[in-house]
Amino acid sequence: MDIAQSILSIHKELPPGVKLVAVSKFHPLEAIEEAMGAGQTVFGENRPQEFEQKARALAGRGVEWHFIGHLQTNKLKMVLPYASLVQSVDSVHLLDAINDWGKKNGKVIPVLLELHVAAEDTKQGFYEEEILDILFRAASYSNVRFCGLMGMATNTDDTEDIRADFGRIKALWDYLADLFPELTDWKELSIGMSGDWRIALEYGATIVRIGTAIFGERQYLRLRLPA
Ligand SMILES: *Cc1c(COP(=O)(O)O)cnc(C)c1O
Repeated sequence: MDIAQSILSIHKELPPGVKLVAVSKFHPLEAIEEAMGAGQTVFGENRPQEFEQKARALAGRGVEWHFIGHLQTNKLKMVLPYASLVQSVDSVHLLDAINDWGKKNGKVIPVLLELHVAAEDTKQGFYEEEILDILFRAASYSNVRFCGLMGMATNTDDTEDIRADFGRIKALWDYLADLFPELTDWKELSIGMSGDWRIALEYGATIVRIGTAIFGERQYLRLRLPA
């Protein structure tokens, strides 16, 4: 299937209200434009420089950008002017820096808190109790809007393990929604990638982040962006 066909067939399967983020990292602008031609408007990137270059190149064309990767505080200015959602907040240090940037620039930044859930050591994210701790102090983050949770399931073919991971995220999401009714923007649960998005829908995903199933395998060495 080509890019446009893949976009169309995924949209057909998504229930109303579930947002598809097309993860275009390591793919060239032409691939993004092909997806745009099929009606896709939301794209996700995980490297600040690539994110900024693509956002600038496609400015004014109705594209919404989500940042989904690890973000260092010295790279905020490459990301925050363009991101409609930062899905991957994974430390208090980063959250504090985003809030400070928002204050300085007169903006409120919508974020998701990333939950550490997969079995792999390499996965970033908060532990449950850290997220609880942050949300008890949510009112002190005047320039951050807490919109929900993001998580990645264990990278495995064992669907029972994937279900266990998604079940944990969903349970925490529900618990937090009950505990903090004042967080009126707490609406998003971003789970599900190319290999597991159909399962994620069963666990209440409101956002799925799909790369490979749309754009094919990433060409890690070939991408060249205009300066
Ligand atoms: C790359 C990436 C995706 C997309 O992964 P695919 O398996 O290619 O669909 C989703 N979420 C995050 C956080 C990613 O870094």
